[in-house]
Amino acid sequence: MRAFNFCAGPAAMPTEVLKKAQEELLDWNGLGVSVMEISHRSADYVAVAEKAESDLRKLMGISDEYAVLFLQGGAALQFSSVPMNLLGRGGVADYLVTGTWSGKAYKEAKRLAAAGLGAVNLVADNSENAVTVPSKSDWNLSDNASYFHYCSNETIHGIRLGVNDLPAIKAPLVADMSSDILSIPIDVSKFGLIYAGAQKNIGPAGLTLVIIQRELLEQASDFCPMVMNYKNQLEADSMLNTPATYSWYLAGLVFEQLLAQGGVEAIYKVNQQKAELLYQTIDESAFYRNDVNKNHRSIMNIPFFLADSNLDKLFLEKSKSAGLLNLKGHRVVGGMRASIYNAVTLEAVQALVEFMKDFEKTHG
Ligand SMILES: *Cc1c(COP(=O)(O)O)cnc(C)c1O
Repeated sequence: MRAFNFCAGPAAMPTEVLKKAQEELLDWNGLGVSVMEISHRSADYVAVAEKAESDLRKLMGISDEYAVLFLQGGAALQFSSVPMNLLGRGGVADYLVTGTWSGKAYKEAKRLAAAGLGAVNLVADNSENAVTVPSKSDWNLSDNASYFHYCSNETIHGIRLGVNDLPAIKAPLVADMSSDILSIPIDVSKFGLIYAGAQKNIGPAGLTLVIIQRELLEQASDFCPMVMNYKNQLEADSMLNTPATYSWYLAGLVFEQLLAQGGVEAIYKVNQQKAELLYQTIDESAFYRNDVNKNHRSIMNIPFFLADSNLDKLFLEKSKSAGLLNLKGHRVVGGMRASIYNAVTLEAVQALVEFMKDFEKTHG
């Protein structure tokens, strides 16, 4: 019996994908070995890698103008790789801070800039009011930025910033989509670069996706480490060093399953239903509360508070015994958080909502 898992990351995987992986764990493709036990350069493995890329291209509508890289080091390494690759010829990069993750990206870019890479400009930050996106009238954009960096979904604060909510920005858009990639249709052609750690909506940890406009591949700093250099990685088919082969294979299975389910449009409908159900339950009750500005509420990560925080511990104990796991909020925000990524079913959210109503009845 599988529990309902609301973990922020590494997060729930689709059960069907895990079953398939289990079936072929010992003997993959009739080779008599696991897919994790073969060379990344073998024809069998290269076919897996290429299929994963072409399925991802289908799912997201990624044109040939873009390269897709399957890297390592997590989204956090991209905090360094992005400025190393895009700010290497000097210039200034614009950073919008809307929560913990974009804040960390900004800090790392600023650190590298101070070491001689270029300049980094803080567009605005929401630390005074970490439940919304700073008002656009307060944004301080550079005239000729090399890129504009933001986070489309702040996993910890539960804040979403869609590309359509951005003002007109001339610089190439760079987005950290770690926690909402593939959950909602997006127009990739609006971006210069998209990156995402895999462990929320793609597959297991260890894999990081980078989708980059090919014309941005020529700007790397001479000091950019070899394996962080996007152009080098592209020329080596993301195999400059041994890639995270098993994570890549599992991501491929997730992509196949998403395509079979009707793609991103179809999963987005389910995601909207899940989020609406949970927000509605929270908003209709005086016992629960979510503070995020309604225009910027995440549909993937939903933090919420109990009116009486003395009940937090009991809520977590009881939810766990009811098979609803990992609802504790991040320590930065406190309270509870339900992460309801693609692999978290509507049934799981229905079970959570029922539990919340029962808990309120008993303790409210
Ligand atoms: C989880 C997360 C990160 C950090 O990912 P790592 O793979 O641990 O480096 C960065 N940004 C966002 C939006 C995240 O959700």
